[in-house]
Amino acid sequence: YPKQKPIISLMRERLSQEILDLLKKIGEVADSMGFGVYVVGGFVRDLLLRRKNDDVDIVIEGEGITFAKAFAEMMGARINTYSKFGTSVIIFPDGFKVDVATARMEYYTAPAALPEVETSSIKLDLYRRDFTINTLAIRLSPEGFGTLTDFFNAQRDIKEKRIRILHNLSFVEDPTRVFRAIKFEQRFGFTIGKVTREMIKNAIHLDVFRELGGLRVFNEFRQILEEENPIPAILRIFDLGLMKIIHPGIEKHNDLIDQLDEAKKVLAWHDLMYTDEPIERWVIYFLTLLSQCDREISEEVAKRLMLAPKHKKLITGDRFHARNAYTWLTYSLPATNSDLHRKLSPLRAELLLYIMAVSANEEIKKAISHYMSQLRHISLSIMGRDLKEMGLKPGPLYSRILEETLAAKLDGTLDDRDDELAFAARYLQE
Ligand code: ATP
Repeated sequence: YPKQKPIISLMRERLSQEILDLLKKIGEVADSMGFGVYVVGGFVRDLLLRRKNDDVDIVIEGEGITFAKAFAEMMGARINTYSKFGTSVIIFPDGFKVDVATARMEYYTAPAALPEVETSSIKLDLYRRDFTINTLAIRLSPEGFGTLTDFFNAQRDIKEKRIRILHNLSFVEDPTRVFRAIKFEQRFGFTIGKVTREMIKNAIHLDVFRELGGLRVFNEFRQILEEENPIPAILRIFDLGLMKIIHPGIEKHNDLIDQLDEAKKVLAWHDLMYTDEPIERWVIYFLTLLSQCDREISEEVAKRLMLAPKHKKLITGDRFHARNAYTWLTYSLPATNSDLHRKLSPLRAELLLYIMAVSANEEIKKAISHYMSQLRHISLSIMGRDLKEMGLKPGPLYSRILEETLAAKLDGTLDDRDDELAFAARYLQE
C-alpha cells in the first residue's frame, strides 16, 4: 500500500489558481468517465521541492486517449495522440500543454474493480520510471483530490536528498538514466544513493552503453548542458568515466574547468546585456568541451551522437571558422571597426561567446564585446536601389560598393544617409 497524505494546502500555496482549476476539472471529467486520475512525476517532485514546474503529466487509470479527446473537446483544445503508447498531448489555445498517459493496459486483464488492482495499475506505471523522486502522484479524482500517493518511499529520498533507482536492472534496462541521475543530482544538490552508484559502476563495467542509440545519448547530454549551471554535472560525467561514451577523445584537459567557468560568465554577461536575444546555451558548453578535439574526433562525435546536419556543421565546420577568427584576433588587434566587422559578422552569437569562453586574452574578449554591443547592428541607410538611381547597372560591383560604404560608416567617417550616398558616388567614380 502506498503512503498517502493530503497536500491540498501546499497545492493552494504553491500553484496558480489556473493550474488548480485545471487539475480539478481533469479530476471531475475523468471521474465522470469512470477513470482514476493522477498528476505525476516531475510536477509533484518540484511541488514538494518548492520549485516551479508547469509540465503537467497526467496518468489515467482507464483509457487515456479517450479521456484526452473528451477533455480537449470540452476545453476547446487540440490534441496529438500516439496510440501505440496510449499517450496524448492536449494543447490549449494559448499553447499550454498537458501530457496524458494511460496506466498500462495489461493490468486491466486482472480481476476488475478490486481496490488493490485499481492502485496497482498506477503503481506499475510509476514503477517503470527512472528514480523514486519521480514516482510521486497526486490524486485528482473529486474523492481524495490532493492526496499525495507515495509507493516507493520517494518522500524519504527527497528529505534525505537522494537519487535512487527503483530496481537493480534499471540502468541495464535504460542506460540513459545514468545521465539523468547526474542531472537531477546536480540540479537539486542531491547525492546518488550508494546502491544506485554501484549500479552505475556496474553498468559502465558491463558496457551497456555500447548499444545505446546516439540520438538518446545526445538528447540526455544536451539536457544536461541546458541546466542552469551544467559544470558540476559535466565534471561528474568525467569523474565517473562516462564521457568516453560520447568519445574517448573528449578530455578533461588542464584548461577545461577555467574555460567552462568562463563560458558560464560569458553567458551571464550575455543574459544581462541582450535580454531579447535568444541563444542556444548548450551550444557554448558543447563547443567548449570539444575545443581541443581535432576535426577527425569532431566527425566521430557527430556520428556517435547522430547529430542533425546543422549540429554536425556546428562542431565540424563552424567551430573551425570561429577558431580562424580567434587566430586572426590574436595577431591583428587592435583592429579597425570595419575589419572586426568583416571577420566576426559571419559568426552567430553562440560562436562569438564560445571564442570569448576559450580565450584567456582580455583584448580578444574586449574586441568581441565591442563588436557585439557597438558594431553588429550597424547597417546602411542606402541600398541597391540607390545605386541604380545613380545609373549603375546591377552587378557584382553593387555589393562591393555597399560593403565599402558600410566599412566607412563603421569606421566613423559617415554620419547620415547623405554621407553614405556621397561616399558611394565617389567610390563609383574612382
Ligand atoms: P525535467 O525537470 O528535466 O524536465 P522531468 O523528470 O520533470 O525532468 P522529463 O524528463 O520530461 O521530465 O520526464 C518526465 C517523466 O518521465 C519523469 O518524471 C520520469 O519519471 C519519466 N522518465 C523520463 N525519462 C525516463 C527514463 N529514461 N526512464 C524512466 N522514466 C523516465
